[in-house]
Amino acid sequence: MQKLYADSILIGSQWQKDKTISINSKGIIESISPGRIDGAESVKGAIIPGMVNCHSHAFQRAFAGLSEYRANQSDSFWSWRDIMYQFVARLAPDDVFYIARYLYLEMLKAGYTCVAEFHYLHHQPGGEQYDNPAEMSFQVINAAGQTGIAMTHLPVLYSYAGFGQQQPSVLQRRFVHQTEDYCWLLEQLDAHIAREDTLALGIAPHSLRAVSAEQLKTVLPVIKRFNVDSPVHIHIAEQIQEVTECEEYYHKRPVEWLLENFELDERWCLIHATHLTTTETHKLAKSGAVAGLCATTEANLGDGIFPTANFLDSGGRFAIGSDSHIAVNVADELKTLEYCQRLNKHQRAVLTSKSCRSVGQNLYLQAARNGALSVNQNVGELNVGKRADLVVLDTNHPTLYAREGSFILDSAIFGCSAMPVKDVMVAGQWQIKDREHPQQQVIENDYLKVLKKLAV
Ligand SMILES: [Zn+2]
Repeated sequence: MQKLYADSILIGSQWQKDKTISINSKGIIESISPGRIDGAESVKGAIIPGMVNCHSHAFQRAFAGLSEYRANQSDSFWSWRDIMYQFVARLAPDDVFYIARYLYLEMLKAGYTCVAEFHYLHHQPGGEQYDNPAEMSFQVINAAGQTGIAMTHLPVLYSYAGFGQQQPSVLQRRFVHQTEDYCWLLEQLDAHIAREDTLALGIAPHSLRAVSAEQLKTVLPVIKRFNVDSPVHIHIAEQIQEVTECEEYYHKRPVEWLLENFELDERWCLIHATHLTTTETHKLAKSGAVAGLCATTEANLGDGIFPTANFLDSGGRFAIGSDSHIAVNVADELKTLEYCQRLNKHQRAVLTSKSCRSVGQNLYLQAARNGALSVNQNVGELNVGKRADLVVLDTNHPTLYAREGSFILDSAIFGCSAMPVKDVMVAGQWQIKDREHPQQQVIENDYLKVLKKLAV
């Protein structure tokens, strides 16, 4: 039994002092005891639950910074996507592995202990399958395994270029599956993933524009056969153009249509859901589905502002994702959510709840718990029976020094450019110690080689 002693630890929603947590060989917290138990490892800092990153396209990390110039009169998500498609056309399986492995190392160092990889880069540049059609999935799954981050793998079903089953463009061929091939891929992946404690499988119909209603109805029962709790992630209502096209085709707004045609519940994670009416906001909150908010990417792409305050007031659940990885920074994601609301409402301290008046702590606790739901993994808070995915914050950092209780997280999120993460554990295994990963040098060097190759 592994034992950790900490002076300061966030158990459930409460800060507690002077505790020992005991972790069994499967990485599960067996007990939390007062005082220091003999043989316990002393942790120097404040222990908080690891954060879940509910939305990642790993390969896009190597693209961050390459689209920050004006190409048209009105650059938007769509012009960004065109540049990104050119980039993706050049990536080989090895490149994707090295980029993902570096990104997951960055995530661990930032305090993310689990990632939902929304994986749509399946095929060769011409659209042909690799010898093993699951090749690209295994590149990102192996990258996660080598860094130690937990992963919920979400293979993406992507068939069309737009509403009304429009044919995909040449540059979209690498993403495209027909329903049968996609179901076969799920079966191959389930056989592997079911054996691993820190892996889970879900599905990701890309968006209402890239899959048909028929396809959605076909694949939802398929994933339930593997695991009834498997998550379903979908991009939705990120762009006004997408809302308009959906209204033209389905005569409903995207979230409105989804709510009317499917029984949404906590297994669903709606990525972005930026453009909502008040009625949609309320109904989505009541459905129990998680809104997967990617605040730094949404700001970077000029998507719009999710109605977070109204959504939370209606009892809505949200998780955070770093999506395009323009930032790999928990504090940035949470701060951006809050600051958008402050700027909009001309108020301070907006995103609090009845049970937690501290913005930083409230946002962190909610994002971690609902993030866990969105990935179907037994994490998101520290308590008996939960997996020991945890982060140690450096309380000797000048911004955290002598802070107590909720001021620790408020200071780590609002007072620092990034949370001062010192150590990170996933399933009872230390992956980061004193800000270093054991394979850090190799992982960085291999990533730099890929960047150099892609720069030519
Ligand atoms: Zn996305």
